[in-house]
Amino acid sequence: MRLFIAINFDSETKSKIIDVQNKLREIAAGRFTRPENLHLTIFFLGEVEDYRAILPCMKKNFTEEIELCFSGVGSFRSNLYWIGIKENPALNRLYRNLCADLDKYGFKTDAKEIFKPHVTLAREVSVNKDKVNISFDEFKMSANRLSLMKSERINGKLTYTEIYGVSVK
Ligand code: ATP
Ligand code: MG
Repeated sequence: MRLFIAINFDSETKSKIIDVQNKLREIAAGRFTRPENLHLTIFFLGEVEDYRAILPCMKKNFTEEIELCFSGVGSFRSNLYWIGIKENPALNRLYRNLCADLDKYGFKTDAKEIFKPHVTLAREVSVNKDKVNISFDEFKMSANRLSLMKSERINGKLTYTEIYGVSVK
């Protein structure tokens, strides 16, 4: 199965993200992330058969809430648009430690680029403007759960399901 480790959002945060997504919708066409699929990927695993060793790695490294600050809209390859997460040492540490521990069990991330935490708003975007300039007031969320997510197509619909989670308080 196709797996990734992620932080999911509470409903208040989701609605703030959707407000920003709607600003993009006004000026662009594309494949917009459905509200239930909005998330922050920490570590993309890709195809995994036996995920048991992943669970203790998550538990060991997610021990404290991480405060996320959502800030700015940007794009990758000019057609994937996202909301960025402000420079965050605790989040970087989580990523690094997960990489190190998962590596011991032979799990390599498929990620080709450096860790750039972001929330994907839309893919395959085409904009009818020269420049996309979307601004919003930064907002924050304390992340207290780290989730192992399964990604699959169900009746053609991209669906993410949590198969394991670690909570901290
Ligand atoms: P789709 O592939 O249908 O456009 P998706 O990318 O959201 O949708 P997945 O490919 O299953 O669905 O990816 C799940 C999560 O992992 C997403 O947040 C995606 O951005 C991230 N991801 C996927 N592939 C990689 C990769 N090679 N490197 C880093 N992150 C990845
Ligand atoms: Mg993908």
